[in-house]
Amino acid sequence: MPTYVIEHMEDDNPDTSFPHWIALEYAQMIKWAGEGNTVIFSSLSPTSVKSLSEQLVARGAQEGSFRAETRSVRELMKQEGVPLEKVCLLDPRAEKEIAPEDGKEYDWFLFGGILGDDPPRDRTGILRRDGYSGRHLGPVQMTTDTALGVTSLIVSPPHKTLSTITFVDHPTIRFDEHEGVEMPFRYIVDEKSGEPVLPQGMREHLKADMDRGLDDF
Ligand code: SAM
Repeated sequence: MPTYVIEHMEDDNPDTSFPHWIALEYAQMIKWAGEGNTVIFSSLSPTSVKSLSEQLVARGAQEGSFRAETRSVRELMKQEGVPLEKVCLLDPRAEKEIAPEDGKEYDWFLFGGILGDDPPRDRTGILRRDGYSGRHLGPVQMTTDTALGVTSLIVSPPHKTLSTITFVDHPTIRFDEHEGVEMPFRYIVDEKSGEPVLPQGMREHLKADMDRGLDDF
């Protein structure tokens, strides 16, 4: 069973609660990782460990489905005896595309806990310096939860490939017939609804964000 590690790389203000937007994405990652799996969120401040854990449990995350750590991925690898060659970094600039057989070659799949910039600023490059083997998920930037979902569909059952997953790029998330927001990412398309798969609560969060923005004018 692969282990998914998200190295938190966004600002981590010890005086405020963990950002809601990121907590929604992190909760979605636990869903994508599936029953019986544990997702590790690393490099968090002690305040964020507490605040994120509370938000994840409030959103239904089961005991044991995640670990919120102050230690970095490098410290965790050392203390848990995971060698560098058993860790795969999901890296938009990697040479090789992720494939089902990578599920046998690697124990840990590492992601940048980054909200993503448009255009991308290669912040994943900060992790790349540590020398992990890298795999890409195609040419378009995904949200971290989507990247974990795609990786999970490929390295564990049903062992899809990038070409057998349906994606949508830069979708407009509609709130009603007049309002919506375009998201600068690639998403997995839900086969039943035909809609992009968003973290639970994200649509509401985006709408509230937009309304707040409008109030500021
Ligand atoms: N803007 C960041 C950059 O340019 O490196 C990417 C941020 S992305 C929202 C967050 C993480 O999801 C990345 O650090 C990477 O681990 C993973 N990811 C997103 N899209 C990917 C892709 N097309 N290929 C490989 N990994 C991807």
